[in-house]
Amino acid sequence: MAAELGPRAMFVAGGTDLFPKLKRRQFEIDTLIGLDFLERGIRNGSSECAIDAGVTLSDAAHDAHLNSGFAGYAQAAGLVSSPPLRNAGTIGGNLCVDTRCNYYDMTYEWRKAAGFCLKKDGDICLVAPSSPRCWAVSSSDTAPMAIALEGMVTLVGPEDEREVPVSALYRDDGIDYMAKQPAEVVTRLRLRAAPGTRSAYVKLRRRGSIDFPIAGAAVALELDGDTVARCRIVLSAVASHPLEAEAAQAFLNGKRLDGDAIREAAELAAKPAKPLDNADLSHFWRKRMVRVVVEQALERAATERTGSVVKLSGQ
Ligand SMILES: Cc1cc2nc3c(=O)[nH]c(=O)nc-3n(C[C@H](O)[C@H](O)[C@H](O)COP(=O)(O)OP(=O)(O)OC[C@H]3O[C@@H](n4cnc5c(N)ncnc54)[C@H](O)[C@@H]3O)c2cc1C
Ligand code: SF4
Repeated sequence: MAAELGPRAMFVAGGTDLFPKLKRRQFEIDTLIGLDFLERGIRNGSSECAIDAGVTLSDAAHDAHLNSGFAGYAQAAGLVSSPPLRNAGTIGGNLCVDTRCNYYDMTYEWRKAAGFCLKKDGDICLVAPSSPRCWAVSSSDTAPMAIALEGMVTLVGPEDEREVPVSALYRDDGIDYMAKQPAEVVTRLRLRAAPGTRSAYVKLRRRGSIDFPIAGAAVALELDGDTVARCRIVLSAVASHPLEAEAAQAFLNGKRLDGDAIREAAELAAKPAKPLDNADLSHFWRKRMVRVVVEQALERAATERTGSVVKLSGQ
């Protein structure tokens, strides 16, 4: 159906992101293709976990195996939006969730009054008017964590089925943010981690009860004693795709994980993050806070403490 109808149709899983956007006329389509036939199981192996795309965020957040072997992923799922939305929202929908921007996530009337933009109905970017591209922000909490945990996704299309790394699922483009074919359905996520891998997700947002991330850090760490054997750090909400902190990863590999190493790695991780003035709170402050969320995620992964919301000052 998707291949036949093209841009006239969209898939819907939990509908928690899609339905508000249809109401705001951010998408104008005539057909919804329901994905409630997707499997909803979580299958555990010794060093991997396969999660069907129809699993809800709540079920992923509370799954015992995910919490013990892939703690960062369970934390990220448990920090998406609010409990009612996590009961309906799926992990497949969270991997495919639209990019966000203050000038786009508005009602039709607001956007018409302010002037439409490149992402929908217009021909200019209102955040960076001289830019030919859209800078809407990748805002999935679980995608960066899935990348840090060497995630692979299964895509089923009209012709065939393929498995690709989650990192290959995204483009650095606020409009065409997904690299999969439009008619391909995400059916499964497979997380992989060497035994003993520790992981953590730390998220910054205004209201801990519901908001999207305005910065976040996903960390997966393999330690040999107190030395880093392998480390992956992926940032959320600071670019149009989940942003891998490559310099920080390279710096940490082979280093003793002490306070100085964590601080220096956090500085390096924050460098490529370039938040623009199109999400909540000041983008200068968000840029400064990237260092803080990375530092906290590294500390939490090292000690595998639970809970992962950064408190804004004064809270
Ligand atoms: C108030 C509010 C707060 C929110 N806060 C957060 C937040 O903090 N963090 C966050 O990450 N998200 C947040 N969201 C967005 C949303 O709730 C989640 O991302 C949720 O996981 C989306 O899953 P879903 O199943 O509801 O997807 P849907 O809304 O059904 O779909 C989302 C998109 O994915 C596509 N899609 C869905 N499933 C598949 C599939 N299996 N294969 C291919 N395409 C698919 C749809 O076509 C659509 O484009 C928030 C939403 C609201 C309304
Ligand atoms: S970044 Fe620019 S083009 Fe993209 S949604 Fe925002 S204002 Fe529109």
